Order: sequence, then C-alpha cells, then structure tokens
Amino acid sequence: MPKASTKKSKPQSKKAKLSLKKNELKSYRKLLLERRKELMDEMGELMKEQVSSTPRDTSGDLSSHAFHMADQGTDAMEREMAFMFASKSGRLVYHIEEAIRRIDSGNYGLCAQCQKPISATRLKAVPHARLCIKCKESEEGRNSAGK
Ligand SMILES: [Zn+2]
Repeated sequence: MPKASTKKSKPQSKKAKLSLKKNELKSYRKLLLERRKELMDEMGELMKEQVSSTPRDTSGDLSSHAFHMADQGTDAMEREMAFMFASKSGRLVYHIEEAIRRIDSGNYGLCAQCQKPISATRLKAVPHARLCIKCKESEEGRNSAGK
C-alpha cells in the first residue's frame, strides 16, 4: 500500500507569508472600523459647516476640487462624497476602507510596493498602512523632493 506522503504538509514555506494571526487581523479590523467611524463623525461635523458656509468659497485647492466635482451633479449626496474625497480625512477613510478590504481578502499587512510584511509596530501605529516604513520613507522623500 503506497503511502501518499510521509510527512504532513510543511508547516512553513520560505515565501513571505502573512505572519498575522486571525485574532490579530480581527483586532486590526476593529481598530480600523473604529477609526473610520471617528473620521466619519468628524467629517459629518465639517460637512455641516461646509454646507452652511458659502458653497463658492475658494479657500484652498481642495474645496475647489470638491466643487468642481460637485458641478457634475448637484445631488447633495454627490457633493458630500466630493467633499469627503477632497478632504484629508476623506482620503484617510478611503485608505482605511482599503485596509479593511485587504484584511478581508487576506493580504493585509504586506507592503504594496515590496510585498514584504509590514512590521507590527508600524501597523499598530498606522493600521491602514499600505507601505512598509522603508517604502513609505522613500515615497515621502520623492514627494518632498518633487515639490
Ligand atoms: Zn515596502
């Protein structure tokens, strides 16, 4: 009788694998959801102010971008969305949602650039981190140099 295999499947492969455990992922997910909620609340407040102030206020390119987008649809909802994505918190919410998606699809915690695992220290500080600290630093260096 031929034995199918002498050993059980190898416990670990050499390939960079996600070192995060299920419960760790869960806690990051919770953290992300909490932060997202905070931001949404914060933005809700901002939006109230924004809506009550003159809509053609041109203080800063961010709002002008938002209102350019709003021109395409006068829907209040669309304007809210435009404002959200034009604001810093809005982009953060976007990144947080992306991170939650990465958790769900199972590639959370890996650097989007070099595919190496992002350190736990970094994830704890920035749970929505997309890049490892090295790649992030080089990206920031590029950005500030290009300015
Ligand atoms: Zn990296």
